[in-house]
Amino acid sequence: MRKLEHRAVLLLILALVLFSGLAFFVFRYVTEGTTWAMKYYNSHIYKSGHLATGRVYDRNGTLMADNTAKDIEYVDDTGIRLATAHAVGDGYGFVSTSAESAFRDRMVGYNLVTGTYSVTRKGNSVHLSIDSDVCLAAYNALGSRDGLVAVYNYKTGQIICMVSTPTFDPASPPSADNAKSGTFMNKFLSGNLTPGSIFKLVTSAAAIEKLSSKDLKKFSFNCTGVHEIDGVKIRCTQAHGKVDFDGALAKSCNGAFAELSRKVGARSLRAYTRKCGLETTYDMDDVYNVKGSFEFPADDEVSTAWAGIGQWKDMLNPCSMLVYMGAIANDGESVVPRLLSTDTSIRHTKRMIKASTAKRLRKMMKNNVEVSYGEGNFPGLDIYAKSGTAEVEGRKPNAWFTGFIKNNKYPYAFIVCVEDSGSGAQVAGPVANSVLQYIVNE
Ligand SMILES: [Zn+2]
Repeated sequence: MRKLEHRAVLLLILALVLFSGLAFFVFRYVTEGTTWAMKYYNSHIYKSGHLATGRVYDRNGTLMADNTAKDIEYVDDTGIRLATAHAVGDGYGFVSTSAESAFRDRMVGYNLVTGTYSVTRKGNSVHLSIDSDVCLAAYNALGSRDGLVAVYNYKTGQIICMVSTPTFDPASPPSADNAKSGTFMNKFLSGNLTPGSIFKLVTSAAAIEKLSSKDLKKFSFNCTGVHEIDGVKIRCTQAHGKVDFDGALAKSCNGAFAELSRKVGARSLRAYTRKCGLETTYDMDDVYNVKGSFEFPADDEVSTAWAGIGQWKDMLNPCSMLVYMGAIANDGESVVPRLLSTDTSIRHTKRMIKASTAKRLRKMMKNNVEVSYGEGNFPGLDIYAKSGTAEVEGRKPNAWFTGFIKNNKYPYAFIVCVEDSGSGAQVAGPVANSVLQYIVNE
């Protein structure tokens, strides 16, 4: 009897071991099956190291890359190849956020249930949200300068333009050693840059919601060109004279914003940087932007003032700022960006700011254009914007221009950065105008 009992226990243990092993395998198959299927020993989906299946199209159906060709075949136009290199990618996977890297699974089209690849054996096509002609217009507007241009539809989330320079030709990419620094980085998704005065749109949101409307109404600052806090000089590009809240943003007065930052305080600046999504990473069809990083030391008024002006340790991810522009355009809630034109689901972000705050910021951004940038420089566009001229040590400033246009047919938000250049409105403003004119008129 004893013996039998022992055997039963032993059998039970064996059965348990077998069962848990099976369960573990099923779990791994479900979670990692796609990765197994894509290992290099499945050689029929790879050819000389690159993916040999799938095609990449832009939103208009232009074939950007054909992996089924002998080598990957790219679009003929050299300018378009350079303009879209970071979005489309190359056979070597140099740009991790590109279609050739990030959408591999989709192009292989591996099916876990049947264990087969896509029925056509040619793989699946991916249809990107970008418009390659708009990307070319943006690339041409940047010229030989380093920077980035991005435009997205703040109603649907579709990113129609995403250009990052320096760029490369995916048909003949340089070796990693020979490439200029930043060549293989999509700065819009993966960059972190000093924002300068475009950050004042976050400080302004905090001021509108945290200060009383009476305080805001009577806010006044007399700018002499230099403002001292604790013996530290905060300089403006010129003496702006007497400015109110709206005037402080339109003239981008650092002295006035140093005072506004002190009034709002380090805690609220921190909270609004988060609320406005500048420390958020968005899931864009399985591609993610990097988070920005900011510091607002409660015990250091000078650093907090500089942080509220968009300098000090502020590091901004352009994609998250573009989404915040969508929130201002959309009454306080924004739309998560999309990189595939076939993905038409619309996902809203959490509420960033109150609808009344968004309305107030729109009024101020329109005032910026009327008072400082000149409506005549943006003919036919109902444009709302903020410029930034970010000081970078040892180089000329980064010129920024960000905002959106109101247009039922073209509800687009934009962000432009031209590195190592000059003033935001003078350098980045015309780039934004060229791209928007192309979108609206071509
Ligand atoms: Zn000033």
